[in-house]
Amino acid sequence: MSSERVLYNCDRCPAYCCSYPRIIVNKTDVKRLAKHFGMEVEKAYKKLTKKGHEKGEVVLRHQKDEHFGTICQFIDPETRGCTVYHARPRICRDFPGTKRCGYYEFLKFERMLLEDPDYVSTTNSE
Ligand code: SF4
Ligand code: SF4
Repeated sequence: MSSERVLYNCDRCPAYCCSYPRIIVNKTDVKRLAKHFGMEVEKAYKKLTKKGHEKGEVVLRHQKDEHFGTICQFIDPETRGCTVYHARPRICRDFPGTKRCGYYEFLKFERMLLEDPDYVSTTNSE
């Protein structure tokens, strides 16, 4: 396990990264989600995903969100936590992949400008 300290705090963020419209999933991700929900893989594709903008791209469906316009359907709107955490796609496990998170930097910047450390961004990233 890496001991590198990260410069973001997910506990102080309303899951900004989960508002990204292109949460791309592959077959392994969809199979894992299908197993999690006890449904057929085909049904999981239909119910949980949709076509992305790029050819062959499959992305997670969104739900409406008070902060970002829309957000991944698996976010709990109250706790802002991932409701499929143990079955979440690879891309979610890997993000941000560096010690800094760009979304968090932006959120910190907005909070600093507004002099409100509790400010939650209302930027619609769609
Ligand atoms: S946007 Fe960054 S800080 Fe916020 S939940 Fe995602 S990884 Fe964590
Ligand atoms: S699956 Fe979970 S971690 Fe991934 S985008 Fe959706 S809510 Fe966020």
